[in-house]
Amino acid sequence: MSTIAPFQIPADILQADSIPSLPVVALEVLALTDRDDVDIEELAEVIARDPGLAIKLLKLANSPLFKMEGEFSTIRGASMVLGIRSVTLMALSFSLVSSLESERPWSDFDYDGFWRRSLVCATFARRISERANQKKISDEAFLCGLLSHVGGLVLAQCLPSDYGKLGVGNIQALANWPTEEDELNTLGFSQSDVLLTLLGTWGLPNRICMAAGYMQRPRALPTKHDTDTRELTAIMTLSFLATRLLCDPDNGTELRILEKWASSKYGISKRELNEILLLVEDDIRDLSGLLQLDLPPGQTHSSILQRARAQLLRQSIANATCLSRAENQTEQLHKENIELEVRASTDVLTGLPNRRALDHHLAKEIKQRLSRNVPLHLGVLMIDIDHFKKFNDTHGHLAGDAVLVAVGKILADSVRAGDSASRFGGEEFAVIMPLASIDGMRMCAERIRSRIEETRLIWKGEELRITASIGCAQLKRANSHLDGERLIESADKHLYKAKNCGRNRIEM
Ligand code: GH3
Ligand code: MG
Ligand code: MG
Repeated sequence: MSTIAPFQIPADILQADSIPSLPVVALEVLALTDRDDVDIEELAEVIARDPGLAIKLLKLANSPLFKMEGEFSTIRGASMVLGIRSVTLMALSFSLVSSLESERPWSDFDYDGFWRRSLVCATFARRISERANQKKISDEAFLCGLLSHVGGLVLAQCLPSDYGKLGVGNIQALANWPTEEDELNTLGFSQSDVLLTLLGTWGLPNRICMAAGYMQRPRALPTKHDTDTRELTAIMTLSFLATRLLCDPDNGTELRILEKWASSKYGISKRELNEILLLVEDDIRDLSGLLQLDLPPGQTHSSILQRARAQLLRQSIANATCLSRAENQTEQLHKENIELEVRASTDVLTGLPNRRALDHHLAKEIKQRLSRNVPLHLGVLMIDIDHFKKFNDTHGHLAGDAVLVAVGKILADSVRAGDSASRFGGEEFAVIMPLASIDGMRMCAERIRSRIEETRLIWKGEELRITASIGCAQLKRANSHLDGERLIESADKHLYKAKNCGRNRIEM
């Protein structure tokens, strides 16, 4: 286990020259999404640097999918009516599409199928969020949909033979898109994992990373996330189902689940759902024209829905009664199990995952690496609050608790999508960073250290100043199930060095 290594992305996944990168305009737009003080002039100026983008954006703003009152003729006008955030997200959507689309470097990948799926997911996500009274996240939903299948695109390129077996290398219209379960069984990880890491690397807003990365496994979304993130994830889960329904040949089950969820979560009737699914057909036709994507003529959505209903009817006649009884029971049990599981894995004081969850997570990361036998980095930070005892001794135990809560919050807010912070025990915390480089770990550790140092916690009128020491370690390739423990030990050793060298510092 080396703790000093040059920055190196794992060999066969997320390889620097094979993964898509962001075009310059997207990077500039992205920088704007991070700021609250962007003005319309500034946004219009960035977008104007890519005239093609500006024209497409105006067309989109005037298309039925986004249509509001009146007609927009300038980016400034659109920004004034739609809002800066909407236009920023739209611009980002477009520049991502054009960067992925411009080259089509992998000749045996079915780009047309890929784009059909992405557009279905994006337009359904937008339509359903509007219908579900979640209009404020509809632009994010649209962008998430466009990105929803990029994990599969990257896997098909980076692991052509493994992923090809799952049917994506040459997804002709007949094959279903691989399921999360198939991917986990074959590869030990899924396109959701890749997507989460990739979007995090691109620096997309955290909510978008999370919703896209967890749409296929919404129950695994860490509980710390805000309501909008959870709503967006639920919207994307529905949209992913709708995409399977409209794009996979084997789709009766999807229709049933989609109808059930849409009705129980958002009170959307079967008839309304049907209308939305039919609307999506016009939407993707408009959009593919706008984005200059050459989609082959697909089946009409009404014939797809008819076929799904027939499939569903056959299935349900066969096993209607026993299925629904068993399902209700299983669902209830499943729900209870999840609640228990979440409670047993969460630290009550800080709300972060606890030691048990950390051990579990670490063991899973190691297991995945062992089963794949490829070098995938794994980083760990150990964080220990300096002279913590003095908070307890001077101000009482409750003050100590407040310090722990404050540090827990800083950690949760400081880690990127795909990384995970937990309470190790007492006043010690850990961060697991899958695929992190040494530079990435150092940056994250420094962000945490400085945010803790800058925090001003007021306790009964007195200001408490907090600092912490951090030890980092990196595993380059897993060889044994004991590697998780060794990694923690190594980070711990560096932590003690940081303490001995004066505290409030990082050692790696
Ligand atoms: P160092 O800089 O060397 O890390 O010094 P320290 O004082 O932070 O470390 P030490 O291990 O001596 O003290 C840790 C203290 O944390 C001892 C323990 O009573 C206290 N502690 C552990 N868990 C909790 C908790 O949940 N709440 C509170 N208030 N205190 C806790
Ligand atoms: Mg300690
Ligand atoms: Mg301490």
